Amino acid sequence: MKYKRILLKLSGEALQGKSKNHHIDREVLEQYAEEIKQVKELGVELAIVIGGGNIFRGDEAEWLGIDRVQGDYMGMLATVINGMALQSALERHGLYTRLMSGIKMEQVCEPFIRRRAIRHLEKGRIVIFGAGIGNPYFTTDSTASLRAIEIQAEVVLKGTRVDGVYNKDPEKFTDAVRYSQLTFLEAYEKNLSIMDMTAFTLCMENKLPIIVFDMNKKGNLLRVAKGEEAGTLIS
Ligand code: UDP
Repeated sequence: MKYKRILLKLSGEALQGKSKNHHIDREVLEQYAEEIKQVKELGVELAIVIGGGNIFRGDEAEWLGIDRVQGDYMGMLATVINGMALQSALERHGLYTRLMSGIKMEQVCEPFIRRRAIRHLEKGRIVIFGAGIGNPYFTTDSTASLRAIEIQAEVVLKGTRVDGVYNKDPEKFTDAVRYSQLTFLEAYEKNLSIMDMTAFTLCMENKLPIIVFDMNKKGNLLRVAKGEEAGTLIS
C-alpha cells in the first residue's frame, strides 16, 4: 500500500452524471460508494471534499441578480447537500463516516475541527468535508488542498471526467497528449489547468502531490490509491 492517508476531491458536477432532471444521479452515487469502499478496505485513511457545482456555483449568482458573496455561500450550502447524499450512500455500504462543515449547522453535521477530523480518520471513519472552507471567493479545490495539508494527507486525488492532464483540451483537440507525470513548476510554466491558482499554489508550497484521474472509469480510484499509474501525477 502506497498511501496511509488520502484526500479525495470529487466534483459536484460529476455527481450529476447523465441525469438531466436530478442534481444527483443514483448510479454515480452508487458507483462512488462502491469504489470508496474498496479503497477503505485497503486500510487507507480517507477524507473527501465534495464540490457543489451540480446544484449551485457562486459564479452563477450575478446572472440571477444575486450578490456574489451570497452566491458563494449558496454554493457552499450545495456542497453540504452533496456531502449528506454521499454520507448516506457510504453508510448504506457499511462504512463509518462523519460529515464536517466549514459553516456551522449542528443539526446536520459537525463543525470542522482539525484535531477532531484527524481523530475520526485514525478511528477508521471516512471524513467528508462540506461547505468548503467556509469563506466566499474560494473553491472546493482550494478546500481540498487546504484540508489535505491540515490533516497531513500524503496526496490529493482529484477525480475528474478526464483521465489526466493534457497539453490541450482533449475534449476539443483529438491530438491532445496526456502527461503521466509533471513537476509543479512544469505545470505552472505550461499554464496547465489542474486546479485554480490558490489550490495549486497551496499544494506546490507544501509539497503535496496531486493526482488527476478519471473518477468515472471503474476501478480507477482503487488503482490510484494503490499507487498504480492512472492519470497524471503532479509533484
Ligand atoms: N465555495 C466558496 N468557498 C469555498 C468552497 C466553495 O465560496 O471554500 C462556493 C463557490 O461559489 C463555488 C461553489 O461553492 O462555486 C461550489 O463549489 P465548486 O464550484 O468548487 O464545486 P465543483 O466545481 O467541484 O462542483
